[in-house]
Amino acid sequence: MKPKKEKVKCSVCGFQFIPESFHYEKTHFDQIESKGEIVEFPNGKHQIELKPFTSLRGSYVTYCPQCRYLIKFAGEIGRKEVIEDPSLIKKLGAIKEFGKTYKYQFDANNKPYMDYSDYFIEKVDNIKISIKNALDEVNFDHWGSSYNKWKEDKSIDSFKFLIHFYSTLIEYLDAQVEDSNNKSVVQKIEALNLPKNLEILTKDVEELKNKIAHDVYELNEEEEQLVESSFTQFMRYLIMKQLNSLKLDKIIIEPEYDFIDIDKIKYDIQEFLDLYLGKVLHIKGFYNEFLMPLLEELGVRHPDYKP
Ligand SMILES: [Zn+2]
Repeated sequence: MKPKKEKVKCSVCGFQFIPESFHYEKTHFDQIESKGEIVEFPNGKHQIELKPFTSLRGSYVTYCPQCRYLIKFAGEIGRKEVIEDPSLIKKLGAIKEFGKTYKYQFDANNKPYMDYSDYFIEKVDNIKISIKNALDEVNFDHWGSSYNKWKEDKSIDSFKFLIHFYSTLIEYLDAQVEDSNNKSVVQKIEALNLPKNLEILTKDVEELKNKIAHDVYELNEEEEQLVESSFTQFMRYLIMKQLNSLKLDKIIIEPEYDFIDIDKIKYDIQEFLDLYLGKVLHIKGFYNEFLMPLLEELGVRHPDYKP
């Protein structure tokens, strides 16, 4: 059972609160046998003896922040269950009752109520999952695989990378731009409303591609740089496009959850984006030149974060 998303009410002062934390106390409880009346009769007597219906192990403890009253909840609850396996019957803790052998079977329980950490984690996880879902839509595997190979094992030269980047770009334009069949590539690029700088770069890539379309061609350094920076800027554009709607710079914490520190959320988001984007895109100077400016723009830069 999941911890309840509710406040706890102190039974002493009546204060209602979100518990700061729960601690597990390894308490040992002795089972108290209950006995019936001794019914005596000539030459004998009879009495019923019963072990408790349930047993307890451990407890979850928190305290009321108003009056410091300690509040405890059962940890594990054990219920009497018949032992079928005869080899277990002799084991410790076996109970003989009514011609059968029983043992307490314990169910582990979670914290009874969500505490500060749980609320914090819930908030962070929800944001992270929405980031993941938004980024997954980009399909970095498709965009980035040949780029990563180009950057790493040189099995793909600049020319091959350009061809792959260009064809992925055309697929993207056709999917994004309305009536794409009747538009030229340049018109499609313009229809995207890219940031001006990126629009120019993308058009330059289109021009370069046309120049070399019919021949195997060795790109010069300047051309390689053009391809590289238009790719990385296009990736940044796609990421921003996906993440903008999440408004990560305007994370809202309701007053009752004011123990949640937005800065710590930002730290975790930063760590997550560092890992996610670093794994899918092996961009040169990734941290300083790609991730940092992106985080600034998203408004989630945390000054203490170091990769
Ligand atoms: Zn209280």
